[in-house]
Amino acid sequence: METNLLENYELVVGLEVHAQLLTQTKAYSSDKNEYGALPNTQTSVISLGHPGTLPKINQKVVEYAVKLGLACQSDIAPYQYYARKNYFYPDLPKGYQITQDKTPICTSGKIWIKDETGKDKAINITRIHMEEDAGKSIHDLDPYATLVDLNRAGVPLVEIVSEPDIQHPQEAYNYLVEVRKLLRYLEICDGNMEEGSMRCDVNVSIRKKGEKTLRQRVEVKNINSFRNVMRAIEYEMQRQAEVYETGGKVLGETRNFDAQTGTTTILRTKEGAADYRYFPEPDLPVLRLSADYINKVRQDLPPLPRDLYEKYTKTYGLSDYDANVLLENKYFALYYEKLVAIAPYYKTAANWLLSEVKGYLNQTASEIGQFPIAVETMAELISLVETGKVSHNIASKKIFPALLHAPTETAMALAQANDWLQKDLSADITLAMQAAMAKYPEKVSAYKAGSKNLLGLFVGEVMRATQGKADPKMVNEIVLSLLA
Ligand code: MN
Repeated sequence: METNLLENYELVVGLEVHAQLLTQTKAYSSDKNEYGALPNTQTSVISLGHPGTLPKINQKVVEYAVKLGLACQSDIAPYQYYARKNYFYPDLPKGYQITQDKTPICTSGKIWIKDETGKDKAINITRIHMEEDAGKSIHDLDPYATLVDLNRAGVPLVEIVSEPDIQHPQEAYNYLVEVRKLLRYLEICDGNMEEGSMRCDVNVSIRKKGEKTLRQRVEVKNINSFRNVMRAIEYEMQRQAEVYETGGKVLGETRNFDAQTGTTTILRTKEGAADYRYFPEPDLPVLRLSADYINKVRQDLPPLPRDLYEKYTKTYGLSDYDANVLLENKYFALYYEKLVAIAPYYKTAANWLLSEVKGYLNQTASEIGQFPIAVETMAELISLVETGKVSHNIASKKIFPALLHAPTETAMALAQANDWLQKDLSADITLAMQAAMAKYPEKVSAYKAGSKNLLGLFVGEVMRATQGKADPKMVNEIVLSLLA
């Protein structure tokens, strides 16, 4: 029944992501911006909204917002002003939020994701603007009262608003994964949804397939995981389809997601922009960003996950899966970057990182930053295998564990000290092959007359004679050349 109901409809979703910025201080004051401090200890008179206090622009916030905009290929506004968004709430001492309205710092741009079939898709960005967080109302600590912690009041945020380009719950999930990855690569937000440093509001509507105009959307708030974003969208699709199918009207509402039941319930009817009476913030100056400034920020951008993905899959020939695992963590990707700069065996180096190195990190619950083996030593180890000096088996089972215990050693020193180097057995192989040919002269003639399947006989003879120590690849080569 459920799928039938949705058969005639398509999904239209836009996401609003709020990301807390990793600045030392708050957006408009020198109060500390730090998660987890004792309640109401990071609250000067400015955070408390005392009359007569004045906000000041935190330059780091501007820099971080520009970074993000450049990484999304947005246009950066050269001239902008802040705005007041007025509303009353106990955790908003000023009675307004300093945000941006008509002149967001970034407009347009895109985030690349995979659609639900795995194809590349661009989700367009409407705008990114700077604003401040509100304090936190705590409803579950005191049975009689709501407690307010204003440490979060004034913490800097960027709000990333997407176009309604998302057409599948999985795309919403994939979009959030990419946004978080980007925030982390830029090191402007830790992307921690549980601590609320990345939050997501979802605008959901549906329409009949083929319909050109958008129908009424509903905003769903308070979703605390990527998984729950999908669940909220799935629930809303179903709910809205039922409303339309029974002749009802979907109302412009802000709804709350309940993770326990997987349902949404009405919080309030949606307020329009007019309800907030936005006006230019009189206490902050107009912000002008020169082309020089923007270029300087651009030059300091780290490698971006999307560019690295392109390079890994197109230039290095890695699979989509391998590239994505390498890119999950910026410092893991940077380790790989350094590794292949020294030892350009792209696929082999990726295999080492994804199996041996990742295995070690998982076992020890550590990060690549704590990985004991220097990238130069890993490059040396991989090169020893690739040039045939040690076997892969010896490298991964013996040398790699030895290096973990003695990371200041070189791979070569360990191989020599433990007699792990592959011996050059080419002379032994040649001798063994010559003996085999003397033993079976008629088979040599038969091989030369076309019985190519006799190759296995000679290879077997040589492997036996060298007691299995010879590299099968080398045996094959020598046997073939002597039979030629
Ligand atoms: Mn906002």
